[in-house]
Amino acid sequence: MSEIRSIGILGGGQLGRMLSVAASRLGLRCHIYEPGAAPAGDVAHALTTAPYDDEAALRAFAESVDVITYEFENVPTSALDLLESIRPIRPNRRALAVSQDRLTEKTFLNEIGLATAPFADVPSERDLATAVERIGAPSILKTRRMGYDGKGQVRITDPGQLEWTGAPSVLEGFVDFSAEISVIIARAADGQVAGFDPGLNVHEGGILRTTTVPCGLPGKVTTDAVLIAARIANALDYVGVMGVELFVTPAGLIVNEIAPRVHNSGHWTQAGCAVDQFEQHIRAVAGLPLGDGKRHADVVMENLIGDDMNRVPELLASPRTQIHLYGKGEARPGRKMGHVNRITS
Ligand code: ATP
Ligand code: MG
Repeated sequence: MSEIRSIGILGGGQLGRMLSVAASRLGLRCHIYEPGAAPAGDVAHALTTAPYDDEAALRAFAESVDVITYEFENVPTSALDLLESIRPIRPNRRALAVSQDRLTEKTFLNEIGLATAPFADVPSERDLATAVERIGAPSILKTRRMGYDGKGQVRITDPGQLEWTGAPSVLEGFVDFSAEISVIIARAADGQVAGFDPGLNVHEGGILRTTTVPCGLPGKVTTDAVLIAARIANALDYVGVMGVELFVTPAGLIVNEIAPRVHNSGHWTQAGCAVDQFEQHIRAVAGLPLGDGKRHADVVMENLIGDDMNRVPELLASPRTQIHLYGKGEARPGRKMGHVNRITS
């Protein structure tokens, strides 16, 4: 067995919550660090509620655990520097740096030979017109940092429409994709890799609505998708679970983005695999052998967003349906409150 008994998790949302549950099943304790409300705190061994610039709190948190991981990639660099001087951070800092910034991310992907949407650096509003001239329209302007659920994005449908995001951005050419898929992959410190089957993702209003496995695409495409994810994980010397979002196009697969953590589109693994993405991540960061990624059921995962919560009584009565609620307070529009995994065969 590994020497690791306790894991610190930066971020206390639903991902941290499900990681804590998985860790506790393996006899490990989790300590959550979260500046705001923390649904993960309800199920973890310890919770620190403090901002990311509270050095004393960061220090005490790091000293109380054996290894540190995260469910949220936008932790400030200064906090990470301090934490890393006390305990190892897994996945490593390079994986975080690459995925925190869309410009660095796309540059890295191209450097290792993977296709992305055509893109241009747009450091300020002044640079937007030139970027639109180069990339054309339709295109999407995205802030380099801090975007999620489609936030911080402006769709440019007409070259004359120069709307600014308000922060340093990248302009991406619009990809005419036939499908969006994602691969959840785990890599251990010794280089062992276990990929899950790619899922088909459907977004609504910029937010993931459903993930379906199997994704219905030919084996060649799904194999390529897993190989791409493995290549990224190897190139980053990655330890943990990573989500890779891809666009399927007639010209091949295009990488949209990397999430250096467990991913919403991997929630189906809770009902579809003996070892789900959360347990895989905990195993990887704790230095335990990975489980295999084999799928034993077909699953449709659906997010419960905002007033989808009204459907909970009906969903509880549905056959072969696993329901996960995150224990968040108010069901505001656009807020992810839970998800369901329907076993479809
Ligand atoms: P999330 O948190 O859901 O991953 P995000 O805010 O990080 O979202 P992206 O994944 O970059 O944002 O974009 C959200 C969605 O917008 C994509 O899943 C896709 O449907 C669409 N989209 C993004 N970039 C492009 C593009 N270049 N061409 C076509 N569609 C795109
Ligand atoms: Mg995305």
